[in-house]
Amino acid sequence: MSTQALFDEQTLSLRARMQDFVASIPRQLLLDMDANKVSYPKEYLQEAGRRGVLGLRFAPRWGGSGLPWTSELVALEEVGVLGTSLACLYSLVSIVGEAIHVFGTDEQKERFLIPMLRGELGVAEALTEPHGGSDFFAATTRARRQGDTFYLSGQKRFVVGAEGADLILVYGKVDGIEDPKRAMTAFLVERGPGVEVQHVYGLMGTRGGGTGRLVFREAKVPLENVLGGEAGIGRGTEVFHQMMIPERMTSAGGAVGMGRAAIEIAARYADKRYAFGEPIRRFEAVSFKVAESLTLLDAARALNHAVGVTIESRASAGKVRRLVSEAKKFSTEAAWTVVNHAMQILGGIGYTDIYPIERLLRDVRLITIWTGTNEIMDLVIQHEFYREFLAEKPHGRNVEADALGADFSAEKVYNVEGETV
Ligand SMILES: Cc1cc2nc3c(=O)[nH]c(=O)nc-3n(C[C@H](O)[C@H](O)[C@H](O)COP(=O)(O)OP(=O)(O)OC[C@H]3O[C@@H](n4cnc5c(N)ncnc54)[C@H](O)[C@@H]3O)c2cc1C
Repeated sequence: MSTQALFDEQTLSLRARMQDFVASIPRQLLLDMDANKVSYPKEYLQEAGRRGVLGLRFAPRWGGSGLPWTSELVALEEVGVLGTSLACLYSLVSIVGEAIHVFGTDEQKERFLIPMLRGELGVAEALTEPHGGSDFFAATTRARRQGDTFYLSGQKRFVVGAEGADLILVYGKVDGIEDPKRAMTAFLVERGPGVEVQHVYGLMGTRGGGTGRLVFREAKVPLENVLGGEAGIGRGTEVFHQMMIPERMTSAGGAVGMGRAAIEIAARYADKRYAFGEPIRRFEAVSFKVAESLTLLDAARALNHAVGVTIESRASAGKVRRLVSEAKKFSTEAAWTVVNHAMQILGGIGYTDIYPIERLLRDVRLITIWTGTNEIMDLVIQHEFYREFLAEKPHGRNVEADALGADFSAEKVYNVEGETV
């Protein structure tokens, strides 16, 4: 697949660096992670840090490269070929890093962002709770303040890096503030007394990232670890909305890489594998799956690119939220279809561990669920659309008036009483 036309020299060179990094990851690491022999591959992040490919969008002052979203998407596509676990660990730097970069104090950037970008500090994010992830604001984790210390109590589920990460961004509500949106606060929690890994999950895929349940029992968090310090108390809702941009865009970007890896294996296989005396790619049922896959991935990549540009434009927060959700939904569903097509093209051997398609299929199933399920993406998309659309004055041609019966206003019945409007 060629994307040459979309990229400038700098981006092509970044892509080459990312391909080098991805090629350097030992095959054994992937196998050991999938076999749950590794719980958190610190050396992978260290290698990414050494190569300067973490947190690409962040300011050089804090160790970033000051690149635009469109560049990070190129990097994410390359990392995506490694599967969800390693792509997620790479992405967490972008996600948690965003929160610290935008809302953190300079001291927090020194202490946390710089070592994160060097690959020396593993990070996790803890939003989801056992009773539900979609309804984020219903979170029950609480923080009791005593002087300049907060005592955090609650549970978070499905946290990648619960086992292994050094720093966990945890959302909790500060006691004494009634409105849940005003109470929500982001805490930078370092491992220590009161932070306990209660359960490490047996997962269908996405293994080896230390995904577990965290329990906080009066965990002591000093004020200097409240994201943004004193001014950050009650700003958790803002942090959440900002963090959801990389949260969802990293899923979207990585999805394209995963789908690409799978369909390239399938396309090579279809060229070499014979049935009925012909390479199977000569059968439409096979080659049209390749065609559909290429189209879906190119469309996903193009949408992601356009959304990347929009994030950095002056577009409203609502429009960005809608487009980011569209990118996440479309790319993850495209990747799911593509990996599934790849498995079908390989026939029985695709279902075995002779090819990595079965691992990618186990991985890709997750991405329509995490970082906000695709049903929640639909919820956001239509909500933000209506909010903006209904507030706008109609513009351009009035197409509704182009119907033959457009003037029969008595037939335009909208309300329950049957009155015309
Ligand atoms: C392997 C793995 C890694 C993860 N990593 C992390 C992590 O690092 N940090 C973290 O905080 N979380 C993480 N998650 C959690 C993930 O983001 C949540 O599982 C996800 O957001 C869904 O929440 P839930 O599982 O509680 O499902 P629920 O919220 O209970 O939803 C269940 C179903 O109901 C649907 N639903 C709910 N509300 C609505 C609605 N209003 N309209 C329509 N449908 C609705 C959902 O779409 C879903 O199909 C991870 C999950 C997994 C499995």
